[in-house]
Amino acid sequence: MSLRFRLLGSGSEGNATLVEGGGARVLLDAGLGPRQLAERLQSAGVDPAALDAVFVSHEHGDHARGAAAFSRRFGVPLFGTHGTFVAAGFASAKIARYESVVAGDTRSFRRLTVKTLAVPHDAAGPLAFVVSTASVSLGHATDLGHLSRALVAAFRGCDALLVESNYDPALLRDGPYPWSLKERILGPFGHLSNGDVGRLLEKGLGPRCRKVVLAHLSRKNNHPELALMSSEEALGRARRGDVRVTLAAPDGTGWIGVGAPRKAQAPAQGQLRLF
Ligand SMILES: [Zn+2]
Ligand SMILES: [Zn+2]
Repeated sequence: MSLRFRLLGSGSEGNATLVEGGGARVLLDAGLGPRQLAERLQSAGVDPAALDAVFVSHEHGDHARGAAAFSRRFGVPLFGTHGTFVAAGFASAKIARYESVVAGDTRSFRRLTVKTLAVPHDAAGPLAFVVSTASVSLGHATDLGHLSRALVAAFRGCDALLVESNYDPALLRDGPYPWSLKERILGPFGHLSNGDVGRLLEKGLGPRCRKVVLAHLSRKNNHPELALMSSEEALGRARRGDVRVTLAAPDGTGWIGVGAPRKAQAPAQGQLRLF
């Protein structure tokens, strides 16, 4: 049973990913205003009120900004940690329903399952996700300072990954941000660099993975070509010519399908010799 996903926004101006499969639809993050979120859902052919859940990864505005108003307007329940609930100020917002989860919890919506995972980021209870149907899964992690062993292990079984490729270290160091902010981004609870993602793709990618989406690129501290080149070079070193990389634009992507794995997926020998 396949699934498909579509970014509705990516980066500091707002993140949201729609995932559909197993007879259900969930949104991962709601960092756009409720009206914009609804418009982008409708242009993807999805009725906002028909969503089963919105999972909020953490309280930062680019992930949580529209969550409360969207939940209230369309009656969609929110899921996230208690830390996110408190830090995002959801207690005072009249949201449809908030279900607290702890990292490691799994929630199912018909035949679609969302597993939550802890990530190292300077937030109150930040999460990554693995969204699965019976046969395929998508790993989804934005805003994390480093790749923990547990996250890499969880992502090894995924058929597709969406991961932030936030900054190029040289551009960040030479860029306009104050040093305290640069330190935060570079630190273990900040964001992933292009090189961090490269290491994941070279050393940690599972054999089932065929699609990688690079998301949450910094406008000031990265260039799309640098992020793409870094990932493609890493895949080349790993002899993974079977993996397709897509860059997420700030206003998102089209639908990206994650199909059931075909049989006999061993990489073609001819291709291997090219590297
Ligand atoms: Zn963010
Ligand atoms: Zn954040």
